[in-house]
Amino acid sequence: MDQLVQHMVEHGLNLMRDEQEHISCSIIVPVYDEEENIPILHERIHAAMDPTGVAYEVVYVDDGSHDSSPKRLAEIAESDERVTFVQFRRNFGQTAALAAGIAASRGDIVVFMDADLQNDPVDIPRLLEKIDEGYDVVSGWRIKRQDAAISRKLPSMLANRLIGSVTGVHLHDFGCTLKAYRREVVEHINLYGEMHRFIPAYASWVGADITEIPVQHHPRIHGKSKYGIARTGKVVLDLLTVKFLGSYSTKPIYVFGGLGLSSIFLAFLSIFIASLDKVVNGVSFIQSPLLLLSAMLFIIGVQLILMGFLAEISVRTYHESQAKPTYVVRRIVRKDTSKL
Ligand code: UDP
Ligand code: MG
Repeated sequence: MDQLVQHMVEHGLNLMRDEQEHISCSIIVPVYDEEENIPILHERIHAAMDPTGVAYEVVYVDDGSHDSSPKRLAEIAESDERVTFVQFRRNFGQTAALAAGIAASRGDIVVFMDADLQNDPVDIPRLLEKIDEGYDVVSGWRIKRQDAAISRKLPSMLANRLIGSVTGVHLHDFGCTLKAYRREVVEHINLYGEMHRFIPAYASWVGADITEIPVQHHPRIHGKSKYGIARTGKVVLDLLTVKFLGSYSTKPIYVFGGLGLSSIFLAFLSIFIASLDKVVNGVSFIQSPLLLLSAMLFIIGVQLILMGFLAEISVRTYHESQAKPTYVVRRIVRKDTSKL
C-alpha cells in the first residue's frame, strides 16, 4: 500500500512537474551588439506576455556581439528562470542565431523577434491568437515600416513581389522577423545564409496554413542596423537556391537537362541559319560567327546534361544515405493499427 501511495505521489508530482515545464510559446531573439536595447526589450516582453497567462520562455541568442550584450543577457538568464541564453563564439549571422534559438527552445509555438525594439512585443499575443485559430504560420506585416525609403523599403518591396512570384507564397513582408510558427513546421528545416525569411515558403511547400497580420514597427533608436544594400543580392541568390531546392531537389536533371537541351536546340538552329546563309547568300561558314556559336552551344548543352547526371547522383546519395523520404505525409488513417 505504502508503495502504491509512494508511486502515486511520485507520479502525481511528476505530472505536476510536467505541467509546470510545459511551455506553449518560445520567443526567440537574435542579438548582435544591442546593449542599450536589451533591458528595455526584456521588460517589454514581460509587460506584453504576463497578462495573457500564456506559459512562455524567452531564448536570447547572442551572435558574437562585441559590446556588453552577452554580459547583460547572462545576468538576465541567471535571475529570470523563463530565460535561456545561448552565446555564439563569433558572429554567424541572424539566420544561424534563429536556428540555434529553435534548437534551444521548448515551446509548441516559436515566435521570432528582433532585439532592436523595431518589433513590438505587444503584437505577440495577437500572433498567438491566429495560431489558436488553426494557422501554422502567422507572418507579421510592417504596414508602417520605419526605415529609409530608398535603401530599405523599395528593395524590400521588390524582393517581396519577387519572392511571392517565385515561391508562389504571397506575403507582404517576408523580411519582417516578427512571425509565429508551430514548432513542427520549423523544426526540420535546415537554415543557411539569409534564409530565415523563406521559412514561410518552405512551410507552405510541406502543406502549412499561412496567414499574415499587420504589426507595429518603430524606428531604431539605439545601436545601428547591421545590414546594407548588399543583403538584397544575397536574398536574390538565396531565393534562387530555395526555388531550385524546393522544386527540383529530387529531380535536378529537369533543370540541368532542360537548359542543356535548349542549348543544343539553339546550336542546331544556329548551324541551320549558317547553312541557309551559305546556300542562299553564298556566305562561307568561316566568315560567319554562327558556326563557332553553334559549336559552343552544343558543348555547353552536353556539359549541362552531364552536370544534371552528377546532381542526380548526389541527390540520390543525400536522400538514401539519410533514409530521407522525398515526400511529406500529413497523416495516415488505417483501422488496423497493428501495422503502424
Ligand atoms: N542580428 C544578428 N546577427 C547579425 C545581424 C543582426 O543576430 O549578424 C540581429 C540584430 O541584433 C537584430 C536583428 O538581427 O536583433 C535584426 O537586425 P537589424 O535590426 O540590424 O536589421 P534591420 O532591422 O535593419 O533589417
Ligand atoms: Mg532592425
